[in-house]
Amino acid sequence: MNDYTTALCPKSAICELFQDKILQGPEKDNVYKMIYCSTGRYKDCVRYQTYRKTGTCPDFIMPNSKHARDYILKKVEEEATLPLKGLNQ
Ligand code: SF4
Repeated sequence: MNDYTTALCPKSAICELFQDKILQGPEKDNVYKMIYCSTGRYKDCVRYQTYRKTGTCPDFIMPNSKHARDYILKKVEEEATLPLKGLNQ
């Protein structure tokens, strides 16, 4: 059941989507904040669930993402193992 009571997502301080670092345009255009970040529906947010499980979340994951959990975890793992640019050059 959708919980639209007012609540701030506990991951808002670290979430790049909430911090306006992912989507272009004015902050007011980020409807995800109205639907998920500032209501009890943050618990349904795929980004929130990914942050809880891994401590991070790829930028392409949106709150209503339909990607399979295994796919998301694979992408998190890939990002964590990317070689650092500038090293060994
Ligand atoms: S609800 Fe989702 S998008 Fe919003 S701050 Fe939390 S993790 Fe980020």
